[in-house]
Amino acid sequence: MNHIPLVDLKAAHAEVAPQVQAGFERVLARTAFIGGDEVRDFEREYAEFAGVAHCVGVANGTDALELALRVSGVGAGDEVVIPANTFIATAGAVARTGARPVPADCLPDSYLLDPRAALAAVGPATRAVVPVHLYGQCAEVAALIAALPERVKVVEDAAQCQGATREGRSPGSGGIAATSFYPGKNLGAYGDAGAVLTDDEDAAARVRAIANHGGVAKYRHDVAGFNSRLDGLQAVVLRAKLARLAEGNRARRAAAARYDALLAGLVAAGRVVPPVTVAGNEHVWHLYVLRVVGADRDDVVGKLNAEGIGAGVHYPAPVHLTPAFAHLGHRRGDFPHAEEAADRILSLPLYPQITADQQQRVVDTLAAALR
Ligand SMILES: *Cc1c(COP(=O)(O)O)cnc(C)c1O
Repeated sequence: MNHIPLVDLKAAHAEVAPQVQAGFERVLARTAFIGGDEVRDFEREYAEFAGVAHCVGVANGTDALELALRVSGVGAGDEVVIPANTFIATAGAVARTGARPVPADCLPDSYLLDPRAALAAVGPATRAVVPVHLYGQCAEVAALIAALPERVKVVEDAAQCQGATREGRSPGSGGIAATSFYPGKNLGAYGDAGAVLTDDEDAAARVRAIANHGGVAKYRHDVAGFNSRLDGLQAVVLRAKLARLAEGNRARRAAAARYDALLAGLVAAGRVVPPVTVAGNEHVWHLYVLRVVGADRDDVVGKLNAEGIGAGVHYPAPVHLTPAFAHLGHRRGDFPHAEEAADRILSLPLYPQITADQQQRVVDTLAAALR
């Protein structure tokens, strides 16, 4: 039986293997393992791709979000509004700053943070709101910034949306965003990596300092920092893959459109609810997430997995029903759209190299699982 993975990292590597090999040799020859030319070049190239003035490479996406929050003034005693449905790292990064994550519900169709719910969650201690650009499309940012009081900053979690725009706007533009280059992301390293994206030169400089033990010059430590830097070897991989990212995102869009067509029968029969692209969004399809109706989701995922199809669930529990955040004091029923999504969604295999035959088999197997 031919396995169809959720993400095919082998196929992605095959496309860049010679460039990666040559780049690794450059780094080894210079022993530039932390920082160095490759990191600087990647930061410049990624900033240009992402439509922001500054990209600061760091050790992972969670650090990037924590750093972006910290330089936006978030710290102990503050509250930060986040979507209830996100990868747990969004809440974890907030907690690391000393602030309290305050969940808000998502929109029922796009699963993106509901701006009205976010605004309703803002209180006197709120210092920031974190829209998460979930599954590859951008949540509302412009209207949120316009509606929020001056003291509340927007810090974007852009881990899943490399190359996405909304009404032509890139995440971080005019503000600050964090992204992740975890291997499974649209732009993935061969280990952990992440970046802070911003147009604000001062914020970029402060991130760079905090992430380098509190200063950019050796043995000069102006603020209390920690260590979160991008490695030269990872920068090589990221540069090689960045050169193909726009093309990869186009291939993801084509594959998503093909799923839409293949699923039309199941949609018409009311068995699945397909993903929705919000008007004005340029979606980069990090994940293709649908909702099953009238069937046990875990049972459907189990049947797909048993047939060698790497379906997944992103994510099976919302933040407020996760043990690590039980102390926030919420219970089931508080964020109904996020809870409904967590119970009903599943992600189909999607990557730039997926073939039409593979997608046909995924949908045939899904249809059989729903019978
Ligand atoms: C991947 C991810 C992160 C964290 O990134 P890491 O590099 O794994 O630390 C944060 N938020 C979201 C939404 C993510 O998908």
